[in-house]
Amino acid sequence: MSITKSAVSLLLLSLVLPVTAAEPQHHRVKDLKITLLSTMMTQVGIGEWGFSALIEADGHRILFDTGLRPDTVLLNASRMKIDLSDVEEIVLSHNHGDHTGGLVHLRKELAAANDDAMGTAHVARGIFWERPGASPAWAMVPRKAEFEAAGGRFVVHEQAVEIHPGIWLTGPVPRSHPEKNYGAWVDGQHRVGQVRSPVGLVDDDIPESMSMVINTDKGLVVISGCGHAGLVNTLEYATEITGTENIHAAIGGFHMLHASDANLEWTAAKLVDLELGNLVGAHCTGLEPVYRLRELADLDRSTAVVGATGASFSLESGIEALSLAR
Ligand SMILES: [Zn+2]
Ligand SMILES: [Zn+2]
Repeated sequence: MSITKSAVSLLLLSLVLPVTAAEPQHHRVKDLKITLLSTMMTQVGIGEWGFSALIEADGHRILFDTGLRPDTVLLNASRMKIDLSDVEEIVLSHNHGDHTGGLVHLRKELAAANDDAMGTAHVARGIFWERPGASPAWAMVPRKAEFEAAGGRFVVHEQAVEIHPGIWLTGPVPRSHPEKNYGAWVDGQHRVGQVRSPVGLVDDDIPESMSMVINTDKGLVVISGCGHAGLVNTLEYATEITGTENIHAAIGGFHMLHASDANLEWTAAKLVDLELGNLVGAHCTGLEPVYRLRELADLDRSTAVVGATGASFSLESGIEALSLAR
C-alpha cells in the first residue's frame, strides 16, 4: 500500500494545525443604531413619499436610500442635529425616485466639507437598465451621470456581499415566493412596467431591489427600502446568506399597502417562523398592514410600530417610536 504525497502533507498539516469541528464564525455587529430620515409620517422635520435611514454600526456610518426631494434628508438630519458630512457610503435599494431623489444633492452639498462625503453608492445589478415609459423625473441613467460628474462612484453588486464585518447587502434577491410587491394595483388589476434586461424587454419586477442585513448577537436586523423583492423573500434570503436563523428586526418600507387579508395572514405566519422580534413599518408598508402584522405575528405596541422621521432602533433600547407612533 502506498501513501500519496498529498496524504502525507495532510497528515503533517493536521499535526501542526489544531482541528476544530466548529462552523465558520460570522462576525457579529455589537453596536447598532438606525434613525429614520425620510418617510411619510413625521415627528421631526418634514414628511414625504420616500425613504431614507442612517445606519450606524460598529463605527461605520452608512446612508440607506436618499429620500424623494433633493433636500429632505439634509434638512431632517439637521433638525435632528445629525451631521452627515463624514458619511462616505450610500446604499440605494433600487432605482425609484422616492429613494434616489436626494443622491446628487447630498453629494454636492457635503463634498465641500469632506471630499469623500456621499462619494460611494452601492447598488445592485439592474438599477441602470432602461425603463421605457417610466417617468423621466425618476430615470436613474441621467442621475447616474450627474452623480459621477459630482465625483461620486457606483459599486454594482451582482450577489450578496459583506461590505464590512457583519454588515451585508443582499444584492438581487431570489423571488422564491410569488409575493409580487411591485407595480401598482389599479381597479383590482396588477399593472407592471417594463425593463430592458440583457434578455430583452420583460416585466419590471425591480430586479435590483436590495436590502441591508446586519448580523448581531440578537439575530439579523434587515433594512428595506420599498420591499419590491417581497418581505418574506428578503428575510428568508437574509438568513440564507448569513447563516443566522432569526430576524431580530425588520425596518423600512415593505410594500404591503395593497396586501389582501390572506396575504397578510400568510406573511405573518412566515414572520413567526422567522422569530421576528421587531417591526418598524415605514414608507410603503402601509398603516393597516403594520397593525395587522403586529396582531397576527404576536408583536405588541413596543415591538411593532409605524415608522416616523426621527424614530430610531438600536440593539440596546429597541424601537424608539417617538410620541406619535407609540
Ligand atoms: Zn419603489
Ligand atoms: Zn418607495
